[in-house]
This record gives sequence, C-alpha cells and structure tokens, in this order.
Amino acid sequence: MNDRFKSPLAGAKVGSGGRNLGEVLNLRGVSRRDFMKFCTLMTATLALPKDMVERVAQTLETARRPPAIYLEFQDCAGCTEAMLRMPHPTVTDVVLDVLSLNYHETIMAPAGQAAEAAREATIEAGDYLLLVEGAISTKDDGLYCTIGGRTAMDLLEESARGAVAVIAVGDCACFGNIPAANPNPTGAVGVSEIVRGVPIVNMAGCPVNAVNLAAMIVYYLTFESLPHLDDLLRPDFAYAERIHDHCPRRPHFDAGQFVESWGDEGHQRGWCLYKMGCKGPQTKHNCPVVEYNEGTSWPIKAGHPCIGCSEPQFWDTMTPFYRRLPEVPGFAVESTVDSIGLALTGITAVAVGAHAVGSILRKREAGETGDRDVAEQEGTTETTEEGGHDAQDRD
Ligand code: SF4
Ligand code: SF4
Repeated sequence: MNDRFKSPLAGAKVGSGGRNLGEVLNLRGVSRRDFMKFCTLMTATLALPKDMVERVAQTLETARRPPAIYLEFQDCAGCTEAMLRMPHPTVTDVVLDVLSLNYHETIMAPAGQAAEAAREATIEAGDYLLLVEGAISTKDDGLYCTIGGRTAMDLLEESARGAVAVIAVGDCACFGNIPAANPNPTGAVGVSEIVRGVPIVNMAGCPVNAVNLAAMIVYYLTFESLPHLDDLLRPDFAYAERIHDHCPRRPHFDAGQFVESWGDEGHQRGWCLYKMGCKGPQTKHNCPVVEYNEGTSWPIKAGHPCIGCSEPQFWDTMTPFYRRLPEVPGFAVESTVDSIGLALTGITAVAVGAHAVGSILRKREAGETGDRDVAEQEGTTETTEEGGHDAQDRD
C-alpha cells in the first residue's frame, strides 16, 4: 500500500444506512451460488489467497453500500456500456448494487434539476466514492465540455472535494485518451491533472474491464483502503505485469513464429502478432488472465494485436497500431526483428527486438527445420527478456 494513499482512507467507512449488499442481491434474485462465484472471481482477480473468498463474501454480504457519484465528461460512454452489457448478471449487479449510485447521467431516471439535486445531496452528506468516466476539457476555461451550464472542470472539482476517493474509469478519465490525442483541441486531461488532495485510482483501459473495476471496489470494501498503486495510479493487481508476460501466443514469439500478413498460415495457427503491430510487450494489463466479457475473449485471443489501451496517450505513442514496435515512431529504433545485428537504441525496443532477433537466429540455426520443430526446442528455452515499460517499473 502506498502510504500516501492509505491514510486518507484508513477508518473512513463510507456507506450510510439503507440495505446492505446481501439484502439487495437477494431482492434481485442473485443466487448464493452466483454470489460465491462472484466472490471467487474477485478474489482471483485481486490475486488474493483462496481462503480470502469467505472474508470477501462476508464483507460484501454485510457491508453498507457506499454512496457514489458517477460523472461522465468527454467520453463515448463505452466504459458504462462495458459494465451494462456484461452477459452474466453478477458482475454488473455488484458493480451497480454494491454502490448506492446516487448520480449517473447515463442510467439515472431523474434529469435536470432533480438529477443535480441528487448529486448535491450526496456531496452534502459526504463520505462518498466519486467515479469519473471521460476526459476533462481545460482549454478556454473548460468551455468545450459543459453540463447544465457548468464546466467539467468545475463539476469535477466540486464533486471531488468531499469524496473519500476518486476512481477514474477508463483511459479517458485516467490519461485523456482520444479527446487528448494530438492535437488535443480542447486541452483534454485526465482526472489526476485536476483533482488535488483526494486519493485517485486509475482504472485504465479502453474500455475499462468491468471485472477489474468490480474487484477494485470489492478490495476497498473488504480492506477499507486502496490497493497498492503504481506511479500511474493504477492498482498492481491489474496493471503490474505486461500483456506479453502472460500471452498465450508467447511460445510462438519465443520460437520466432510470427504472423506475417492477415489470414496467413501463422494467423490461422495462432502465432505471435508482434510483426502485425502488437503492443503487448509495452502494455501492462491483466487481459490475458481476466479477459473481457467475463472470460469470453480478448483482442489477442481473437487474432488482433494489442493496441496498448491501458497506457497513457496510447493514441499518440502506440500508433500506427499495425506497425511493429521497433518501427513505431517514438521508440527510436530503426531495426526490425528481421535485421540481425543492427544497433538498437531504445531500451525497451532493445529488449524486445533483441529477443525476437534471438528467436529468428535460433530458428535459422535450427536449419529451417520447420517451425514446429523449433517451437518444440524453444518451448524449453527460458527467456530473460526484460522489455516493456521500464520507465513505468517504478515500484
Ligand atoms: S476509455 Fe474508451 S470506452 Fe471508455 S469512455 Fe473513453 S473512449 Fe469510451
Ligand atoms: S508480441 Fe503480442 S501476440 Fe506476441 S507474445 Fe507478445 S503480447 Fe502476445
């Protein structure tokens, strides 16, 4: 736990009156079995020991639901949709029901003054969680994003003041994302550029993974504190490791087996997407473990490269999306995995490129005996490549 984030929350029990979650889930017809499945999923997502499942369940059953305000600014509402469209009821139920969601512009019934009154009453009562989706316009005093005649900056500052924590939901709220992409005409920024003096958690991704968001809230209720965060304010349980480190296609990377064009034999056989622009070696997110849509799939599993959506400014730093990493502008490398022996100048690309080059070399040394043979040999090869976002490995 980062000390700077522990103290403001320690003992700050949010939640006031009303039904606890156990009662709410009962009313909604969520079975005990589904509830325990949810608790198991949360415990696994948080990388907690199995014997914590019971504690998580007890906490959730008895916890008073914390009041919450959910603001939306410059966004596509995709993160809200990602939560609402979950096929299985429990995650959505718990995300929505674990919180006493007093204000959410997209899904709340009241509108206009009644809606604003709900937000104001929650602020007045204090001790609430603030969730924010979307970037915040700052240019020209923030006039490019206004709600009810007030700027997003103004609404955010006012709503954050009495919050016990602010959770930035999705990459727009975390880092500005698409609205902030070059040339960023509205001066869009993430929550942490505006809010001061309140703990902030960045739940990065485009969209956020609803399972991770639920796990974040469950952690908060269970331990009455925030989980350990990296220097980008992302919780370690979801963002400590690179996509590349847990990718099911990794054995093909190690074996030098790459997709060379869409639909080729390698693509059909599930080989590595590095040459097709995969940003997995640069991206920290638990997609390979949690997947999306409750474990149905995720981009690489579906045959598409990772585009690095949990990293800051990925529209500027990870594009062109279909160009392999060492050739992506900003990585300062001229070499490619095919160019043996060229000097690689970027730290990350050195590691990634060198590793891939090594794979190619080993493949050639194997006398082009066939990719499957090489894969078998390489399957036992221990890799030490330490590429990825060294600049973000700050903990
Ligand atoms: S992070 Fe992506 S999905 Fe979420 S609001 Fe922004 S653009 Fe939409
Ligand atoms: S480069 Fe992409 S597809 Fe290949 S192993 Fe790494 S994360 Fe997986």
